[in-house]
Amino acid sequence: MNYIDLRSDTVTKPTPEMREAMAEAEVGDDVYGDDPTVNLLQEKAAEMLGKQAALFVPSGTMGNLLALLVHCSRGEEVILGDKSHIFMNEAGGMAVLGGIYPHPIPNQKDGTLRLDDILASIQPDDQHRTITRLICLENTQNVCGGVPLTREYTAQVGKIAQDNGLALHIDGARIFNAAAALNVDVKELVAPADSVMFCLSKGLVAPIGSMLVGAKDFIAKAFRLRKMLGGGMRQVGIVAAAGLISLEKMTGRLGQDHARAKSLFEGLKQVSGLRLEAEPSSNMVYFDLADRVTLTENQIIEEMKKRGVLVDWSAPRQFRLVTHYWVDDAGVEQTVKALGDVLK
Ligand SMILES: *Cc1c(COP(=O)(O)O)cnc(C)c1O
Repeated sequence: MNYIDLRSDTVTKPTPEMREAMAEAEVGDDVYGDDPTVNLLQEKAAEMLGKQAALFVPSGTMGNLLALLVHCSRGEEVILGDKSHIFMNEAGGMAVLGGIYPHPIPNQKDGTLRLDDILASIQPDDQHRTITRLICLENTQNVCGGVPLTREYTAQVGKIAQDNGLALHIDGARIFNAAAALNVDVKELVAPADSVMFCLSKGLVAPIGSMLVGAKDFIAKAFRLRKMLGGGMRQVGIVAAAGLISLEKMTGRLGQDHARAKSLFEGLKQVSGLRLEAEPSSNMVYFDLADRVTLTENQIIEEMKKRGVLVDWSAPRQFRLVTHYWVDDAGVEQTVKALGDVLK
């Protein structure tokens, strides 16, 4: 069965064009820096984000970890959102592997960290305190609903970082979704950041891989650490070839996924038994089950699967549906109809 899979944009399988490019990719040993396809991908990523250099990494988690390990030494502190992926969903890698101390502050509903909260979290020069080294933002902010952080807001945080001698890292797993949602060049969104991680493997449809982007000396350090973490890969141009198509053909079409998320939202508003709040600003639609619904989350997942639609819950009585390349208008319609049936 060909399911409509709305569980995440990580489920996107490579396109036929990607598979062809992968089969024909020119490759070399990337640990020697000899893989021409990887080198091209890294150059292109750096150029698109307006930074000096980039590094191809196996996952977003490794990209974020490398950034933290380069920016911070043991015992140093990172200010980040309490709903950020780095804090919640990366197995505490910064603390386990880097001895880095997280200082979480509340993510607001719009995904931002309050500037006052950031300022109040910067440690004074005092022997009792840890040393603050880094601020992390997440754009789009996933758990807050896939909301984009604006260029203006990011610049304000960048100014705080600069004034206080701190670095700024952006977990931009979906930074191209943010750029599309705000209709700005991604370069402008990340201009205040010292480093950015973004994923090729989500809405950009590549099967594997993320990019870490920043200044030349930052990337040189990340390159050494990538080897230490076991992320030095050999003829990985096979994979990078798909990533090149992500950059060339997928970054410009994300608006379509956002439009479909909006029409899914509009459709679901007509389904009784659901509570929808904020209109989606990117490719994620969140809804809660109304009190009268007696089905459990897992029963709903099973019933939807019988109707050809894969969904997943994100919190008790809450679901998150994610649109992507492989979900078309008919898929949106089928999803609305299926949920209407299940909750009837
Ligand atoms: C997916 C994701 C990551 C990590 O990427 P993986 O490739 O799954 O390791 C980091 N940050 C955010 C916001 C993400 O959504």
